[in-house]
Amino acid sequence: MYHELLRDASFWQFLFSIDQDLAKTAGKQTCPCGGRLHCANYPRKPRGAADLPEQYRSRFSFCCDRDGCRKRMTPPSVRFLGRKVYLGAVVILVSAMQQGPSAWRVHELSKLFDADRRTISRWQAFWRDHFPQTVFWKDALARLVPVVQIIALPLSLLEAFLRKNDENDENDDLRDGWERLLLFLSPITITGGLKIKIS
Ligand SMILES: [Zn+2]
Repeated sequence: MYHELLRDASFWQFLFSIDQDLAKTAGKQTCPCGGRLHCANYPRKPRGAADLPEQYRSRFSFCCDRDGCRKRMTPPSVRFLGRKVYLGAVVILVSAMQQGPSAWRVHELSKLFDADRRTISRWQAFWRDHFPQTVFWKDALARLVPVVQIIALPLSLLEAFLRKNDENDENDDLRDGWERLLLFLSPITITGGLKIKIS
C-alpha cells in the first residue's frame, strides 16, 4: 500500500536528496537586485512521520547578501508543502486515503499519522475547495486530463503518478511515482506558488 513507504526512513532520505538538488540549482541564481544568495535556511519541526532524518529540521532557503535588499528566495520542495507543519507527502496521502471505495476512517488515519481530526478536515478542504481554483491546477489540468481521469483530489493524482509498472520492483515504482508527484506539485510549495503558472 501507498502508506508503507512513508514508514521507511530511506524514503525520507531520498526526498531530502531531491530537495538538496533543487536548492543547489536555486542557490546558483542571483537576486533580481544583482546580489548574491546566501544560505538562510528556515527551521522546521515537521510532523506526520517518525524517525525523520536530522536534515528535516530545516527547509532550504536563501537570502540576498546586499544591505537594503536582503530578499528571500526559497526553492520549491518535495518535503514541505508551503507553511504546513505536516510533510507534503502526508498531506497528500492522508487526504487520498479518505477517498475511493476503500476509504480509511478519520480516526484510523489520525492514529497512523499523528494528526487530529480538525487538521485532517482542513487538508480535505484544501484539496476540495482551494486547490482546484488555483492557476497552477487549472493550467496543469489542461495537460493532464487527456491522460488522467480526475475524479477526486488528491486520490486521482496519487493513482495517476503512482501507477505500478509490472517489470520493476514495487518499491522502486512507488519511490519513482512519489518523486514525480512531489516534483509536479513542488511549484505550489513556495510563497505565492498556488497562483503561479507552470510551463
Ligand atoms: Zn537582492
